[in-house]
Amino acid sequence: MSVEKAVAEVVTLASELIAIDTTNVGDPTTLGRERAAAEYVAAKLSEVGYEPTYVESGARGRGNVVARLPGADPARGALLVHGHLDVVPADPAEWSVHPFSGEVRDGYVWGRGAVDMKDVVAMTLAVARSFKRDGVVPPRDLIFAFLADEEAGGFYGARWLVDNRPELFEGATEAISEVGGFSVTLADDVRAYLVETAEKGVMWLRLLARGTAGHGSMLHEDNAVAKLAAAITRLERHRFPLVLTEPVRELLTGVAELTGVPFDPDDPEAAVARLGNLSRMIGATLRDTANVTMFEAGYKANVVPSVARATVDGRMLPGREKAFEAELAEILGPEIVLEWDSLPPVQTTFDGALVEAMAAAVTAEDPGARVLPYMLSAGTDAKSFQRLGVRHFGFSPLKLPPDLDFTALFHGVDERVPVDALEFGTRVLDRFLRAC
Ligand SMILES: [Zn+2]
Repeated sequence: MSVEKAVAEVVTLASELIAIDTTNVGDPTTLGRERAAAEYVAAKLSEVGYEPTYVESGARGRGNVVARLPGADPARGALLVHGHLDVVPADPAEWSVHPFSGEVRDGYVWGRGAVDMKDVVAMTLAVARSFKRDGVVPPRDLIFAFLADEEAGGFYGARWLVDNRPELFEGATEAISEVGGFSVTLADDVRAYLVETAEKGVMWLRLLARGTAGHGSMLHEDNAVAKLAAAITRLERHRFPLVLTEPVRELLTGVAELTGVPFDPDDPEAAVARLGNLSRMIGATLRDTANVTMFEAGYKANVVPSVARATVDGRMLPGREKAFEAELAEILGPEIVLEWDSLPPVQTTFDGALVEAMAAAVTAEDPGARVLPYMLSAGTDAKSFQRLGVRHFGFSPLKLPPDLDFTALFHGVDERVPVDALEFGTRVLDRFLRAC
């Protein structure tokens, strides 16, 4: 089968992509490093006959690549298959291998981006190349998009392209991308593959407290640092209400059926706790969260400063946008000045022909496994593509070893992906894209 050529090159593609350092520090003034990776992808596509479009979005070096493979039925909406080329920073001193080596060792491809998400970019590229080489005509148009800046909000990637070059995605009705389709081992040889059907919304809050500046040796009743610290402590102690959303209910019901351990909808936290490593992420989809991530105040030991600032990473469930905002303002109190950047939640239903095609592709390669929906606690470029009316799924199939703490590898030290998971994923993706 022609998929063998794709399987044969996926590890090399992943390794070479990781070796191109595309660190995104989130500062728009730094020179974009995505260009080299985008040029690499464009060359790999051109080599087999695509005519990819290279777009630098808004700033130098923030390269994106889009290519289209025409399908059998132009009347059907296109399927967008997208992935991001940038990665978060990595400190070599903390790693067992150099994070930008792309080293293949002990059955894994190692390096920053190995799971987020140069693995998926490599799988997509391998399948796209094999389809073109073999003259495969998929059932509908496929749009392959390789994007910059996902790790800092997509301002030079998906978000920019949706605003400025929407014609590149013309006709797209559905999309697949990262953080879904990976396996979770629930019991001996009982595997579920979690497809992302929803994402929490994002609210990045900047907090500011003002007080009276003065000498640190005197009496002070209006201390900006103390005021802000107290507000953050109130927030840290607050528990947002538990809401059992549809994807989480379907996930926990499916897990109960697979494991034989019943799921009590009145106590979803108990069911989530049984999910092991995955409970850190799934647990965060039972309620809104707000974690303080930055704190900045003061400049000298004997000076009480007049302002203190902090940043809070807030994440709200679908349907909770207004309620979350109001609840936050109430907890923090009127003395704290708030400014926020928000991105909406994403949600679709777990049904229809595309979901059936995912399930069929997975079970053809892993008989007996089951696909289940879940909600991602974080956000992806899905938030931008949602604005084009595209129905979005996280589906990047990987069959993982039972003991691998997969979610901890995202942005983690010693990020790595099993070689056989990459090969498995390429086979599933090949089947899925032939049937989509
Ligand atoms: Zn990612």
